[in-house]
Amino acid sequence: MKAQIIDGKLIARKILDRAKIKINALKTKLTLVIINASSDSASHAYIKTKIKFCDQVGVAHQVINYDKKVSTEHILDQIEKYNKDDKTTGIVVQLPLWDYLGTTKIIEAINPNKDVDGLTSDNLGKLFKGVECIEPATARGVIRILEECPTINKSAVIVNRSMLVGKPLMHLLLNKDYTVTVCHSKTTDLSLFTKSTDVLITATGKPGLITKNMVKSGAVVIDVGISRKGKNLRGDVHDEVYDVAGYITPVPGGVGLVTAATLVENVINCYLLSKKEA
Ligand code: NAP
Repeated sequence: MKAQIIDGKLIARKILDRAKIKINALKTKLTLVIINASSDSASHAYIKTKIKFCDQVGVAHQVINYDKKVSTEHILDQIEKYNKDDKTTGIVVQLPLWDYLGTTKIIEAINPNKDVDGLTSDNLGKLFKGVECIEPATARGVIRILEECPTINKSAVIVNRSMLVGKPLMHLLLNKDYTVTVCHSKTTDLSLFTKSTDVLITATGKPGLITKNMVKSGAVVIDVGISRKGKNLRGDVHDEVYDVAGYITPVPGGVGLVTAATLVENVINCYLLSKKEA
């Protein structure tokens, strides 16, 4: 059996087409501010995709690139400025930041209604309580992908427990009536969990970690992991998994594109939420 490839580009296109219609109907200018304080080449590539998608749907954007001398305090001041700026709809801090910067402090400084990534305590807390909020883009992207796949049983295993991916995704899946197991690097016998699930979502950044004998025949496999080898991108899933899985997201061309499209959609959600609360 050869797994059916889930086309992230196609799903991203659907999200962006819908976003464009919504934006046209709003008859207002939406602006995304992207803050970049890192020399990470992957971050530059992600920013390029976000800009491209913003252009495609008509969201204005401004990228603020800092050099390595920038202080946490300076970034906090800038965020405060954009929080107060009526023309700024959403703010994204491109992660990871340089190590010396206070990432948590910087994320927390974003006005929750402008928090396009949905990573402030306010938004994550609301997500965990089931209250309307800006949902983290990667987790929402995974849900969008699952909506495109026929799943027989709603059992899911997530290999990741980070605040960026695993924890928000666990809640979104629970809200969709999935029975969820969360695994991590200290899980003993990872394959015991992975091979018994109908939906496997992996986000470790360990290329080839998920092998054929760890996957149930016909399972939906969502590969969120990204690692770079030279110019090539790789996911967590070994090529041999294509022989057993039913559906699989490729890397590149899978979750990454859907995440970026979902993020653009979140700019609209920021606008709508702030109007509601005004
Ligand atoms: P992270 O904070 O480092 O989390 C990695 C997770 O993987 C942790 O929970 C870790 O367990 C677990 N893990 C690592 N090695 C493992 C192993 N051998 N067995 C089982 N679990 C293992 O990273 P992150 O920010 O969540 O990102 C994870 C990956 O997703 C990265 O490759 C990142 O580039 C990618 N990503 C992709 C997108 C996208 O749109 N495609 C978006 C966000 C992130 P512990 O908690 O025990 O350390």
